[in-house]
Amino acid sequence: MTERFSSEPAVRDLLERIARTFVSVLVVADRADDARPLVAWLCERRAADRMHVILATTDAVETAPTPGGVFRIGITSELTRARILRSALRQDPDVVAVEDLAVEPEAIEVYAMASQTGHAVMASVSAPSAREAIAAIERALLEGARTRGDLPQEMVRAILAFAAPLVVRVDAKGAIETIDEVALEEGLVQLHGLVASGKRTALPSARLDKLDAEQTARVEAMKPPAPPELEALHAAMRELYREHVRPTWAPEVGRIDGRLDERDGSRFGGKPVLAPGEEWPRCACGEPMLLALQLRLADLPEKARAHVIVPEGATHLQLFYCTASPCAVQDAWLPFAMNRLVRFLGGPLEVPSETPPIPDSEKFEARSITGWRELLDVPHPEERSALGGAPEDAEEPHALDRWLFPRAGDKLLGWPWWAQAAEYPSCRRCGEKMRSLFQVSSGEEDAWTKAHLPMLFAADGTGHVTQCPAHPDELGFGWAC
Ligand SMILES: [Zn+2]
Ligand SMILES: [Zn+2]
Repeated sequence: MTERFSSEPAVRDLLERIARTFVSVLVVADRADDARPLVAWLCERRAADRMHVILATTDAVETAPTPGGVFRIGITSELTRARILRSALRQDPDVVAVEDLAVEPEAIEVYAMASQTGHAVMASVSAPSAREAIAAIERALLEGARTRGDLPQEMVRAILAFAAPLVVRVDAKGAIETIDEVALEEGLVQLHGLVASGKRTALPSARLDKLDAEQTARVEAMKPPAPPELEALHAAMRELYREHVRPTWAPEVGRIDGRLDERDGSRFGGKPVLAPGEEWPRCACGEPMLLALQLRLADLPEKARAHVIVPEGATHLQLFYCTASPCAVQDAWLPFAMNRLVRFLGGPLEVPSETPPIPDSEKFEARSITGWRELLDVPHPEERSALGGAPEDAEEPHALDRWLFPRAGDKLLGWPWWAQAAEYPSCRRCGEKMRSLFQVSSGEEDAWTKAHLPMLFAADGTGHVTQCPAHPDELGFGWAC
């Protein structure tokens, strides 16, 4: 087995990244109790990242939120794991975690189902090894499916690979022994070692029930891992991507109250700035369009501004989008479709006092962009061969492709995350390949995409505001889902 993350700092980096990513994790130990601190730690980190986390715990405690922001529900004889998981799902959390999962086969089914419906799931399980933990869960799922006769084996295994894509094995002291990636290959569940056995990495564990003021402050102050996080990557990948690494910036958002909506700042939704006397932009169909995105260029991180070619005098970039039917359906994904307006604007600007009645606008909660988090991006697999990288390499950790790079969700610059093939539009004036300025994702509350716009581009499409390098005012916006 190839050891991919050998040094202790690299393993810690990897764990940090797993903690901050919307991925399901199974934590395995000889005794399920030994796995609890890591599950708790992962829960805390995700809660600190503003995810809604529900933890079904074996502690005899009352149902209550912890100082770390994790909502805990005590497992009792009445409140079984399966029952807690079912009722938790009704609260639509981002993450559902459960301690000592395998003691209730029924809970395994609900757990697997939760992972199929857009939730990240986490669990501690008692087993001698990652492989045996996965095998035990697989047996329980297959047994259930066989009894009901409702799912073919291969489907059950696909569900399993989705419900427990990463398995972390810890020792009796809670130190990391192995991290495996679970994949379905030729109909069988396979484990691939990301961290090999023998390299033990201690975790700064925090017990949720014992958070003191200092720990709480620490959880709240947790910052994402600082670049260069690529150190956590496979050495070969690092080499391959070295020249293609780009910075990207994820927006930090807050709610817009009425007062802030009167200002000209960066936002998703809400009121745009317009030239004095300008009418609210309308679609070719006649309906007023929603403001999907407004960037006040002065708000962009200084380093990012160097990568945006700003036409003379421009102070804002705006994306308006018509959600009226059939505009939002027919050919709406095309980069120059009629139901959108992408533009730079500058000069004297004002915020209109009235918002016209816009179809679907009540679905939007306007969000102001309050800051930016600098991250690193590497190209999407779709683009790598064109960049002269190595061909698809079986040794490459799939996890990194699937969950971490390039980053899904709203972001400034970086490498586009493509829902389908890489689709850079060509400039309508010179035919030059356009570049992505901003990636806009859409969908319901979803910590994976971190979408700040509700259903907009089909179900959960991701779009890109693109710019021609030779004609900076030539902007496009296309999406795919
Ligand atoms: Zn329209
Ligand atoms: Zn051009």
